[in-house]
This record gives sequence, structure tokens and C-alpha cells, in this order.
Amino acid sequence: MLQTSPASVIDAAPKPILQLVGVRKTFGTFVAVEGIDLDVIEGEFLTIVGPSGSGKTTLLRMLAGMDTPTAGNITLHGTLINDVPPNKRPTCLVFQSLALFPHKSVGENIAFPLKVKGVNAARRKARALELMKLVRLPEDYHDKNVMKCSGGERQRVALARALAYDPEVLFFDEPLSAIDYKLKKTLEKELKDLHRETGKTFIYITHSLEEAMVMSDRIGVMRAGRLVQVGTPEEIYGAPADRFVCEFLGEVNTIKVRRGLDDNWTGIDVDGSFRLRPPDDGAVLDEALVMVRPEYMRFLGPDDVADNRIEGLVYNEYSLGSRMQYQVRVGEKVMLVELSRGRALRPGADRRVTLGWDAADAFTLGS
Ligand code: ATP
Repeated sequence: MLQTSPASVIDAAPKPILQLVGVRKTFGTFVAVEGIDLDVIEGEFLTIVGPSGSGKTTLLRMLAGMDTPTAGNITLHGTLINDVPPNKRPTCLVFQSLALFPHKSVGENIAFPLKVKGVNAARRKARALELMKLVRLPEDYHDKNVMKCSGGERQRVALARALAYDPEVLFFDEPLSAIDYKLKKTLEKELKDLHRETGKTFIYITHSLEEAMVMSDRIGVMRAGRLVQVGTPEEIYGAPADRFVCEFLGEVNTIKVRRGLDDNWTGIDVDGSFRLRPPDDGAVLDEALVMVRPEYMRFLGPDDVADNRIEGLVYNEYSLGSRMQYQVRVGEKVMLVELSRGRALRPGADRRVTLGWDAADAFTLGS
């Protein structure tokens, strides 16, 4: 089996396996997906995230051949596949509802695609055992009835069966959404390992940004049928294209500012004068939104230095496990500050605080 790290594929020669140009899907007069231009790079793990109804499943169904675009083109290795049915594509969809055969064993489920191809029983079993090892199922599960497996184990069976088709591209439609948190965390990492070990192209959709961040080489964010940003997790998190992406990616503090006479900006909804990182898109703005993630805010002591500082009053604190989150009232606004436990405020410390952050750690967007 080809062993290729996605990073090396991307660094060497980004070669699109799937290309989408102007893809659109309407249902009657309703536009579900609009204007999608996207190159999927061979061997990458691409995750599409977006709120409910943003068009993720509709896009995936077109990629998998279960739906035809109303307009635009989808090509695979340069060949138009708009109308090619799912079973004629070198792709496989792993569903949220697993669609396993309930009366068959783990091995029979996994080997089903091979049986359809006419592979003999001995080779089917050997391949099923190989795939079970890959998805970390114990060998003695081969003859176990699939309904006697746990949810997580069945998820692994479904994955192994998808791999038995030996597809070039695997599509995942929220496969982990019904699984408890701890197991989900394990499976996310296993899926990432599996991706690396198989070298195949994975396209994954989810509501969960956390899932996307852990696993993906690139993330595409959808909103109202459009792809609003595609980039590495670091790009999306560190340089969101707009306020929607920024807020979708987690909690964020916002301050409205107006351009001053020099390079300083004056707060509109918070008193003060602020230093900003110029907008990443080079836009010249008269008014802007400064967005600062809670983990980039800190409490300043008398000798601490920061580009920006504001005074506030801590009125709530929450434990997030390894971190603490503080709600700080600043005038009419509530700001969030997140600190690792080691840097948490001492119990009984003065709740009047100075918040600080550096310009480079905030984003500046058009308001
Ligand atoms: P979720 O995360 O809730 O699954 P999604 O981002 O996958 O949502 P889609 O299922 O792609 O969103 O749906 C996008 C929009 O298209 C929704 O408003 C949905 O109601 C609509 N839609 C999807 N399929 C059809 C259909 N067959 N007929 C009519 N409208 C549809």
C-alpha cells in the first residue's frame, strides 16, 4: 500500500485529484450550494465545516455522485464526473448511520466489497484481517457478530469495509457525531493515523470545529451554501477571512474602533486607544472590529508590558479543565480571558484587573 505523508504530497507538487468549478445545486428555487471553486489535493485530509443547513451534505453528495450539480463542473483526475454514479467512481462514502449487515460477522462485513468483486474466501479473510489490524480491531473479532460490537467498534468495521473497496477518495459524513466524547477523541486521532498510513484522500464533513482542527490538513468553512474560506487549521484560526469565520471558530472578544489621526485607533464600544494589526487583506478601513481570542488576553501586573490594555472587573470564573476562563466586565461589555491553570488568578486576589494583549495576536476586520 502506498505510504505517503500528506504534508509531503502538499509540499512537493500539489496535484488536484478533484476539481470543482462554479458548482451550484438548487432544489426548486432554493439555492443550497453556490459558486464552489475548490481543488482537492491528492492525499490530503480536507474537512468541510459549517453550521447546520450551510450545504455541507449537499456538496458531499455531489462529490460522491449521489446528486448531480445544477451548474458547474466536478472533475476527477481531469475527467468530468458530474453524472457518473457512485458505484462507477473510485470513491466511497462512510455514513453516520453505519449501514452494516446486522446478521453478518465483522469479517464478512469488511470483506463484502471483495466478495462482490469475486475474490476467493481465503484472500478475503486475509485482507479482512489486514484491514482489521489497520483500524485496530482485535483479530478474534473476525467471526464476531457485528451487532455484538460496541458503537466505536462498529465504526471501525465500517471504516475497514470502506477501505476494502480500495477507493482513491474516502468521504465521511459526520461519522463520529453519535459517539461519546472520550471515544470520539480516540477515533479522531486514529482516523488521522489511518489517513497517514493509507495515503488516501479523505474528505470529511462535520459541525465540530474541534474535530476539524485535530484531523485536517485543510479546512473549508461553509456558510449559506458558499465556501467562505479554505486553508490550513492555522490559517483559518489565525487569519479568519471574516467575522463569521472568526466567531464560528470559537469564542472571541470584539472591540469596535474608529481610525484616529495617527496610527492609533479609538475605541467605540470600549474606552481607550488601541494599536491594531493591519487587516490581513490590506483593506483600508475607517472603522474596524478588533477580534482577540480569550487565550491571547492576559492579566497585566504593574510591570507587565502589552501593546493594548484596558481596565475591568472579574465577575465570573469557570474551570475548563486544564484552563480557567474569566468573564471580565469592561464598561458595558463582557470580555473573556483564558489562562492555563498555572497562571490562574489567586483566590481572593483583587478582582479589578488590567487586561492586555499584543496587536499581532488580534485580527482586524471590516466592521
Ligand atoms: P446539517 O449539518 O444540518 O446536516 P448541512 O450543512 O449538511 O446541514 P445540507 O443538508 O446540505 O446542509 O442542506 C443545505 C440546505 O439545502 C438546507 O436548507 C436543506 O434544507 C436544503 N436541502 C437539502 N437537500 C434538499 C432536498 N433534497 N430538497 C430540498 N432542500 C434540500
